[in-house]
Amino acid sequence: MFTLETTATAAYVVAALLFILALAGLSRHETSRSGNSFGIAGMAVALVATIALALGRHIEPLGIGLLVGAMAIGAAIGLWRARVVEMTGMPELIALLHSFVGLAAVLVGWNGYLHVERDLAGPEAAVLDGQHLLGIHSAEVFIGVFIGAVTFTGSIVANLKLSARIKSTPLMLPGKNALNIGALVLFLVLTVWFVITPQLWLLVAVTVLALLLGWHLVASIGGGDMPVVVSMLNSYSGWAAAASGFLLSNDLLIVTGALVGSSGAYLSYIMCKAMNRSFISVIAGGFGIEAGPAEDKDYGEHREITADGAAELLNSASSVIITPGYGMAVAQAQYGVADLTRKLRDRGVNVRFGIHPVAGRLPGHMNVLLAEAKVPYDIVLEMDEINDDFDDTSVVLVIGANDTVNPAASEDPGSPIAGMPVLTVWNADNVIVFKRSMASGYAGVQNPLFFRDNTQMLFGDAKDRVDAINAAL
Ligand code: NDP
Repeated sequence: MFTLETTATAAYVVAALLFILALAGLSRHETSRSGNSFGIAGMAVALVATIALALGRHIEPLGIGLLVGAMAIGAAIGLWRARVVEMTGMPELIALLHSFVGLAAVLVGWNGYLHVERDLAGPEAAVLDGQHLLGIHSAEVFIGVFIGAVTFTGSIVANLKLSARIKSTPLMLPGKNALNIGALVLFLVLTVWFVITPQLWLLVAVTVLALLLGWHLVASIGGGDMPVVVSMLNSYSGWAAAASGFLLSNDLLIVTGALVGSSGAYLSYIMCKAMNRSFISVIAGGFGIEAGPAEDKDYGEHREITADGAAELLNSASSVIITPGYGMAVAQAQYGVADLTRKLRDRGVNVRFGIHPVAGRLPGHMNVLLAEAKVPYDIVLEMDEINDDFDDTSVVLVIGANDTVNPAASEDPGSPIAGMPVLTVWNADNVIVFKRSMASGYAGVQNPLFFRDNTQMLFGDAKDRVDAINAAL
């Protein structure tokens, strides 16, 4: 028999399959567009089925009004933000969206409590108690609120750090690891307590505890590790959604949450491996990283070069490697860089690009910009493919990159970015660094590269400087 319930369940299965296809598609550049389309289709199916189910359960007109109103407002804000967001602002927007998932999980958890545990003599609690499910419900409420609240404040801190509204250097409270572990132990104790005797103050306590823990976990992580944090929060938001799915008895939310949770966790793991970071250390809020922010060492004097000087150097070069970073994205210098590449290649210079896995503010950021400016794919190489070639390179142009070319990562064990693989640009004959000042990069660490004998600084906006070199050439 087809009932509304069975049809909705079938629709949920279809939506879940579409989400799996979306993830599969998004894992490769070539199929990412179709992956996105699967995701949109899955979400449309899920929304229609959920709304039809709600209407079939005869919700009051006020409920329908709220549903439609919330969807219209949410869709309008979502469309507007998606249209205006710059590529460089994408990670902070994603972090903000994760915070909404966390907040929703907290609200769903609290709603579950208000419906059931608040009135233990009431009909809802009696039904669950009769099925011996009251304890499970209480655990779902408690765990859902905890994960949601950690995700909520963690994502807000990530958003503030990524948008430079707070400093990206790690917060180093004394005994920070003990604080994190203590919070987890307290959470376990409170959960058992709440399952045995559900009381309002326990729920308030876990909410406050989780809000503080989320804040502390992400605040303790240094700027260089932020890419991992963003994907880790993505994972947390998935588990928060899955917890809400259990409370709302919504199978699709459980499946989708688990998909997001596990794929986010796996992505964090891959990124940690690429950046030579311990996965456990990063998810535990910088556990084991006790080194403070780097001291201001005196590296001596830096040398400067003009655009004409740079053009002269490039004129006599036989091979050039360009290593772009976040500054190229900010300056939108990729078109000038593509022009420069064409000019040099026409003169027979071997020009290639070296792309660090976390250059810019999101994975693949540089590849997208260079593709947009029509730089041929075959001269754009990953860090591992090009790192051995700097020795035989006449000139390296570091365009708006900083942390990703910092020799301290491989040479100074006390550096906050120690161990992170970097592009070994300093091995080339000449290095020209394009930036506006001597300021540090995202990780907030000074870069000894700028003071090396073979390095010259070309100050100014990257786009202006590249255009000036193009004119001089
Ligand atoms: P960095 O942030 O280390 O450095 C960028 C440099 O660009 C700055 O030193 C800045 O110097 C310069 N710059 C900014 N604007 C301009 C401009 N208009 N013209 C010229 N220069 C400019 O960037 P990288 O790409 O080297 O490294 C990425 C960093 O971001 C890493 O620490 C990474 O961990 C982090 N991160 C990466 C994410 C990812 O997924 N890829 C996500 C989140 C963080 P100045 O101000 O002097 O001009």
